[in-house]
Amino acid sequence: MKIIDTSIQPRKIQTNSMEKFRADFPILKLKINDKPLIYLDSAASSQMPQVVIDRLVHYQTAQHANINRAVYYLSEIATSEYEGARHKLQKFINAREDREVIFTSGTTDSINLVMHGYGRKFIKAGDEIILTTLEHHSNIVPWQMLAEETGAKIRIVPINDKGELLIDAYEKLFNKRTKFVGLIHVSNALGTINPIKQMIAFAHLHHVPVLIDGAQAAPHIKVDVQDLDCDFYAFSAHKLCGPTGVGMLYGKAAQLEAMQPFKGGGDMIASVTFEKTTYNVIPHKFEAGTPPIAAAIGFGAAIDYLSTIGMDKIHLYELDLLNYATELINDIPGVHIVGNAINKTAVLSFVVDGIHPHDIGTLLNQEGIAVRTGHHCAQPVMQRFNIPATSRASFAFYNNKLEVDALIAGIRKVQKVFL
Ligand code: PMP
Repeated sequence: MKIIDTSIQPRKIQTNSMEKFRADFPILKLKINDKPLIYLDSAASSQMPQVVIDRLVHYQTAQHANINRAVYYLSEIATSEYEGARHKLQKFINAREDREVIFTSGTTDSINLVMHGYGRKFIKAGDEIILTTLEHHSNIVPWQMLAEETGAKIRIVPINDKGELLIDAYEKLFNKRTKFVGLIHVSNALGTINPIKQMIAFAHLHHVPVLIDGAQAAPHIKVDVQDLDCDFYAFSAHKLCGPTGVGMLYGKAAQLEAMQPFKGGGDMIASVTFEKTTYNVIPHKFEAGTPPIAAAIGFGAAIDYLSTIGMDKIHLYELDLLNYATELINDIPGVHIVGNAINKTAVLSFVVDGIHPHDIGTLLNQEGIAVRTGHHCAQPVMQRFNIPATSRASFAFYNNKLEVDALIAGIRKVQKVFL
């Protein structure tokens, strides 16, 4: 199969065109160890702009009540704001209908929902599930649990030395027993953007549904679930300038309707007797109990904020930062970038000869620079490169080239201390 590169190619844009958005983030004014905070860990959690903080405060101070059923003012307004947030997400990912958007507690919860709701109903002993080497643990472990329970098998798509999936190998994994595919859209450990549209199309030729872990894609590139034609798509609010504790699962309505509920309880039912319970319609069938109402409304505000800037603009700006940082880091002797895919988001995983990543993270922190060190919940990626861990700088649209310069100076300083 021919892979068509659909990613947006970098072009020169005015770096300072995004500078005004930086001021929207109060936390970026902090000093850490007497140095201005340089936050380069947005792949773990992005920061929150003032409008989202204000939205949460407004909800708590003037709109909060439990949603659904009650007829009084506050409950009606909370319900309508909660459903309004669902509608914002529907528009953001171009789902066909609001009911295809389910609020969850995050990407991990969304994937577990699909494993329990789809996997436990439709995947049997001897069936095969395709995953990739690049998956985050949250798109590995639930499927391993299912495989253990059912006797299904997991097949893995390998990667090359740049951190790109081997598409020929992916296609060769398909056979009559293949029943499900789980794919990471963008690797959190390496930044690789996978050619998921083509991979989904190939799976569909074999009538196999595909779940996309979009935790690292939705914050950085435009996602259109109808164009991708994925069956499921998951991401978390806290990586898109929203609060923790909430995320979403997109599912095609027909898939969601065929699935069994994941959690039982209030709101997910149509009627309950001790003899028999019937379930509510989607999306409510999958939203048992009181949902994270405030967080979902904050999620909606974050989506509004990002949409105002524009995801294409964000992607282009971040690519410019990535290219700038890649060039500078490659100039430092003894520093090696792990993950050099042609299509990447602004994630720089690197190792430094003779220095443990944790020491790099600790010393950079003394300079006020926040990078993540470790296996990034992607141990199979580390195993593939035969390393225990990397240091990872991940950029967002509120970062700038001065911060990249500070990172580079910081790494050089760490080398001086150790070498
Ligand atoms: N998938 C990927 C690619 C991620 O980067 C993360 C978060 N690091 C997750 C899944 C899990 O997200 P959450 O912890 O919000 O459930």
